[in-house]
Formats: sequence, structure tokens, C-alpha cells
Amino acid sequence: MKRYLLIHYGELGLKKANKPYFVEKLRKAVRVRLEKRFSINFRVKHVLSRFMVLLPDGFIESEYVEVLGKIAGIKNFSFVFESGIELADLGSKIWNTINTDEVDLTGLDTFRVRVKRSMILPYKSIEAEREIGAILLRNGLDLKVKLKGSDFFVDIEFFNEHGYFSFKRYPGLAGMPPNSQSKLVSLISSGIDSPVASFMMMRRGARVIFVHCHGYPFTDKSELEQVKEIVEILSAYQFDTKLYLVPFGQLQKVIATTLDVPAKMRTVLYRRAMLRVAEKISKKDTAKGLITGDCFGQVASQTPENIFAVHDASSIPLLQPLIAFDKEDVIKLAEKIGTFEISKQPCKDSCTMFMPRRPELKANVFDTQKYEELYPLDDLVDKVIEESEVIYFD
Ligand code: ATP
Ligand code: MG
Repeated sequence: MKRYLLIHYGELGLKKANKPYFVEKLRKAVRVRLEKRFSINFRVKHVLSRFMVLLPDGFIESEYVEVLGKIAGIKNFSFVFESGIELADLGSKIWNTINTDEVDLTGLDTFRVRVKRSMILPYKSIEAEREIGAILLRNGLDLKVKLKGSDFFVDIEFFNEHGYFSFKRYPGLAGMPPNSQSKLVSLISSGIDSPVASFMMMRRGARVIFVHCHGYPFTDKSELEQVKEIVEILSAYQFDTKLYLVPFGQLQKVIATTLDVPAKMRTVLYRRAMLRVAEKISKKDTAKGLITGDCFGQVASQTPENIFAVHDASSIPLLQPLIAFDKEDVIKLAEKIGTFEISKQPCKDSCTMFMPRRPELKANVFDTQKYEELYPLDDLVDKVIEESEVIYFD
């Protein structure tokens, strides 16, 4: 029996005029990722709002699951067997497969058959479900029928003049296809939040450009290594990843040594300067907005006043996908995408440098604007961008 990878996409099915654009983006992403991983050519056919990929002999399911689990835009996928539409034949093929193909039913009590069809058939879906179920029971399947929450699931789709069956559907990442929306610049630290915030926007189809402000040579290199590892992991979720490593310590030093800038204002002023760096990089790289991992009230400095005083520095849209998240939910996502293990390691980052002992908790926007006139911010921003190192990941 021929084996296919059957992929269902989610939301892009709702698009109207530009649906072909998104479908094509997803199709290409699937092909490119599979070809890169397995070094053979794949044809990804678009058939009635699904993708079908003929699988090579001896394919290993878990390897494909790993690749597809990282492509946004996929709602679910399964590894199907191809059959005809005649029910007696289909039923016996399913039965043979259950017996021969390492389907493990030990400890299971219940099953159901589910039929979906996108073609005209001489029987109704529900009739086909009953008939296939009856064939399996007649053959000796030792399970009871249960329509909701069954332990074992026979999934059949009729389309393309065939019946395709499988026993499991893997959930995909959902969202929109990689690199299908505009570019955004993400301010990324080696912490837990900003990698997750970046991932969330990539899952919505944005192509994310990463900007990290570091303290090297005032701090050691471990911070840079940690950020590079994080971005490497994130780069699996999109194409053409670019990371700017910005030598920010020199700018912090100027702010920290400017007379008349109160020490407690430094943290907010550093953050405002980071946003200006990111905004300039956005203009240069034609990105349409910024991303931060800010979370309302999560740490002492993230009071509403401070968040607003920082965000005021950006004149382009600034997205904060985690703003209303609880920390536990962020950690769960970080674990899922694979960044948590690295992010949780302690690391001396630029933020710990030239830090006030008691940072301001309720910064005033107008004060911060006034303090920024005391040092040549524009020139400093240009200088650190010029001295940035740019790293590409594929
Ligand atoms: P994270 O876990 O992302 O570090 P956080 O909870 O530690 O966030 P802050 O340290 O206050 O919060 O940082 C708020 C946001 O500012 C971060 O989510 C990130 O977007 C940005 N940011 C912080 N430090 C840096 C840095 N060194 N370079 C670039 N952006 C940064
Ligand atoms: Mg942080």
C-alpha cells in the first residue's frame, strides 16, 4: 500500500483572495524542510485544501513528526495508507494493517471510526463508519465502540477518488506559514520571555530579525553564547534568520556617567535606548514593527508606568505578545519550543551592568524624555549599530 503524509492547514483556509499566496508559502516550507532533513526530493501536492506527500519506503515516522512539528501553519498531519473506496476491501485492509503494522492495542478498551469525505460516494459518512466498525468487530477486534474520547481511533478520509486511513493525527503548530507576513525586529535577551515572544510572532507568520544588546567586553562572553544558542533554536521555526549583536555597554556607560541623570532612572533609559537601536535597525531592514517580551507587572521594574515610559521611545508599532501571560504559561511554551533549558541558566547580561541600586518603579515619561537630551543619544545609537556583529542562520 502506498503511504502518504497528509497535512491539513488551519486558518489559511479562511483567507479569500490571498489564500493561494499563503498555501504556496506553506507548501514550499514543507518541501524545503523535508528536503533539507532527508536529502531527497519531495513533491508536495495540493489536493482539496490538503497537502499530500508520497513517503519513501522505510520512512521513520518520528523523524517526520519532528520536522513537521516546527512548521507553523499546519493544523494537523497524519501518515495515511491509500486504499480504494469499496468498503469491504477498505475494511479488510484496515484490519490487516492493525494486525501487521505494529499497532499496539494492549490495555485499550474502546475505539471509533471517523469518516470525512470530499467526494461523492454511494454511501453516507455515518454508514461508512458503521460498516467499517462492523467489519473490524466481525474480524475479531476486541474493543467496544465509544464515539467520544475512545482509546483507539480509525481515521478515514475519502477524496481524490481514494480512501485514506490512519490511526493517529498529530497536532501541528497552527498559526500562519513561516515568513508569510512582514518582518519584525525582536529585542531578545538570554532570558525566558523574549524568546517565547519572538516564537509567538514567528508562529503568526512574521519573519523575525533578532537584536541583542550585550555588555561585552564589560561582561564575559557567556551571554553572547547563550543568545546565539537560543536564536539557533528559534531559527528552526522560520527561514533566513538574522541576529544583530549590539555592543551596548559603551552606550550604557555614557548614560551612567552623564551628570544630572539620576541613577535610579538608568534602567528605563537603557531600555529606551535599546528600542531606538531596534527601531533604526527596523528602518534599515524594512521591518514594520518591534517585539519585546514584556509582561505586565512580572518583575519589579515592569510596572505599568515603567513599561509605558519605555515604549514611548518607539515611534513604530511595538508588539508585546506576552503582556498578559502568567509566568507558568510562558515557561510551558519555552519548554515546548526548546529554549527553556538555555534561558534558565543564570547569566550576567548587559542589564546587570551600571545598574542603580534602587531603580525607579514609577518612571515619568516626560522626565525620561528630558534626561535623554543630556547625552548625544542619536550618535550613540548610530555608533553601536555600526559596530554590531551580524550572524545569519539558515
Ligand atoms: P526576558 O525574560 O525576555 O529577559 P524579563 O522578564 O527579564 O524579560 P526585562 O529584563 O525587564 O524582563 O526585559 C524586558 C524586555 O526587554 C525583554 O523581554 C526583551 O524584549 C528586552 N530586553 C531585555 N534585555 C535585553 C537585551 N540585553 N537586548 C535586547 N533586548 C532586551
Ligand atoms: Mg531579562
